[in-house]
Amino acid sequence: MKIAENVEMLEVKIPRGDNFSIIYPTLTWDNSHLVLFDTGFPHTASFIVDEITKAGFDISNVTDIILTHQDVDHIGGCRELLALAPQAKVYAHEVDAAFIDGRKVPTKLDKLEQKKRDGSFTDNDLPFYTMLKDGFAVAQLPVNKTLKDGEVLDFCGGIETIFTPGHTPGHASFYLQESQMMICGDAANISADGKTLQGSNPAMTWDSELADTSLDKILTYDLNGAISYHTGFLKF
Ligand SMILES: [Zn+2]
Repeated sequence: MKIAENVEMLEVKIPRGDNFSIIYPTLTWDNSHLVLFDTGFPHTASFIVDEITKAGFDISNVTDIILTHQDVDHIGGCRELLALAPQAKVYAHEVDAAFIDGRKVPTKLDKLEQKKRDGSFTDNDLPFYTMLKDGFAVAQLPVNKTLKDGEVLDFCGGIETIFTPGHTPGHASFYLQESQMMICGDAANISADGKTLQGSNPAMTWDSELADTSLDKILTYDLNGAISYHTGFLKF
C-alpha cells in the first residue's frame, strides 16, 4: 500500500499453523537508496521478498535495513535478506543494538530465563521460550550503524531517529521528514475502533510507563500518518 510519494507499507501474511499473522514492514526510497524497516520472523524472509517485488522493487537493491528494536519478529529475517542484498547496512538504536548483536541476552528471553532461575517458570512458558531461544539463535547479527535520539539520516528526505523505549529498552521509531509519516514499530498500535494510536501491548511491554511517555513523544510530531508494525496504517 503506497501511503506517500516515496513510502510503501508492505502487508506481509506469514503462515502460523492453520492461521497466519500479518506484519507491516515499510519501504522508503530516493534516487540512490532503498530502505527497509524491519524484517519479520526467522525463516519467513521470502514472504517479505514477494511483497517487495509486488511493490515494484528488487530485494537486491535494498541499501539500508533499519530495525526498530531487538524482538525476533523484527530482526528475524534480516540475515536472510542480507544474503540477497549483501551491500545493505543494518541500523538500530544504540541501546537495542547490544541485544541484536548478542552482547546482551534479548529482553523477552532474559525475563523467561530469570523465571527459570527463580523457579517460577511453568509449562505454559515453554512454547514462547523455545520460539525465542531458537529464533534468536539464528537471528542475532551485527549492527553496522547505531543510532541516537534525534539523529537524522540524510537520505529519503530525512529519516529522524526517535528514541521510544518501553516496549523494549532501546526501541526507536522513525520520522520520515518529507512525507511526515511515522514508522512506529511496536511503540504504537491502532485502537480497535481504528481511530487513534495507543501504546504498546502491556503484556508484551518491558516498561509500560516508559511506553506511555514514548507514545506521547510520537504524538508531538506533525504527522500525516503512522505505521504500526502489527496493526497497519493510520491516516491523520
Ligand atoms: Zn513486534
